[in-house]
Amino acid sequence: MHLDRILPFSHELMKKFVSTGDIAIDATCGNGHDTLFLARLVGETGHVYGFDIQKEAIDATGKRIDREEMGDRTTLHEDSHANALNYIPAEDHKRIKGAIFNLGFLPGSDKTVITTPDQTITAIDQMLAVMPTGSIIVLVVYHGHSGGEEEKNRVIEYASYLDQKLVHVLRYQFINQKNNAPFILALEKA
Ligand code: SAM
Repeated sequence: MHLDRILPFSHELMKKFVSTGDIAIDATCGNGHDTLFLARLVGETGHVYGFDIQKEAIDATGKRIDREEMGDRTTLHEDSHANALNYIPAEDHKRIKGAIFNLGFLPGSDKTVITTPDQTITAIDQMLAVMPTGSIIVLVVYHGHSGGEEEKNRVIEYASYLDQKLVHVLRYQFINQKNNAPFILALEKA
């Protein structure tokens, strides 16, 4: 028995909230690991919307999804997560049971292309406004890179002030790890 590490814990949280037939969002596709994980969770009757501002990330994610023959249940957009809701029909917003963000840069790629506090907070705010009770937004906060500290602080400040009657906010972190270890912020819509 051991405590879940950060990435496995992010998936455990998604599993609790996202089931067959639901809609899920991968707000930062990167190499597509979370997109594929979500595509399996939502099953044939659900749908995953994935977003990344880099073509390279969308291509890598598309290949991963195609290899597993999950293209029918996945739609990818080369655009910011701040525009995510524009791509999901309004009548489906109440079916969005989970969204995941991995903040930072695409591993093995240009370290200057990073998630930014304004876009991240805009996206979260819009999603929280439409997602139903009993849904979750999971943020995996990487913050060791240039720009990461500012985003970490802004996102924590934003999440700390969310009305506790509307959103339950969890922080999951190994507090004795060195080197800017990532942590999770989970926002459950109450
Ligand atoms: N979850 C990914 C995986 O499994 O490989 C890793 C994601 S990586 C840490 C962060 C990604 O966010 C990068 O691919 C980057 O291009 C993307 N990104 C940065 N700003 C973005 C934005 N405004 N909207 C969507 N994606 C963004």
